[in-house]
Amino acid sequence: MEIFSERKIIEMLRQAGIRPSIHRLSVLEYVANNRTHPVAEEIYEFIASKYTGVSKTTVYNSLHTLVEAQILRPLEMGSNTTRYDLAIQKPHSHFKCKSCGKIFDMNLPADIDKMAAPGFRVESTDLHFAGVCPKCIKITENK
Ligand SMILES: [Zn+2]
Ligand SMILES: [Zn+2]
Repeated sequence: MEIFSERKIIEMLRQAGIRPSIHRLSVLEYVANNRTHPVAEEIYEFIASKYTGVSKTTVYNSLHTLVEAQILRPLEMGSNTTRYDLAIQKPHSHFKCKSCGKIFDMNLPADIDKMAAPGFRVESTDLHFAGVCPKCIKITENK
């Protein structure tokens, strides 16, 4: 997994025309370097543990700004909670483990957009798998 340095994160924000405030910076740094597809609550808890006095609104606003700038991608994975992923990645799909609830990245064939009917221009692909991850399969097998 690629680790994003603070310098790289600042550069990403600047390129998108966003002022790299400390909160935006740490929100993006958290999502970029923790590929667990965190929910807003989890991101807030991390930021709040780092900087005292940060409000939920600040964190939610930062998330909103980053989504608007298409740096982050919101994921709807069936439940009512929105998870966040780095938008600037090669196309990939997601696998949700019904046992531990974790979300895993799955590869997609590079020419996945060719599956769309002729004449359509694909701008994003969203494919979700559901099932049980290898770790959870092992746990049930050992019971
Ligand atoms: Zn699992
Ligand atoms: Zn992902």
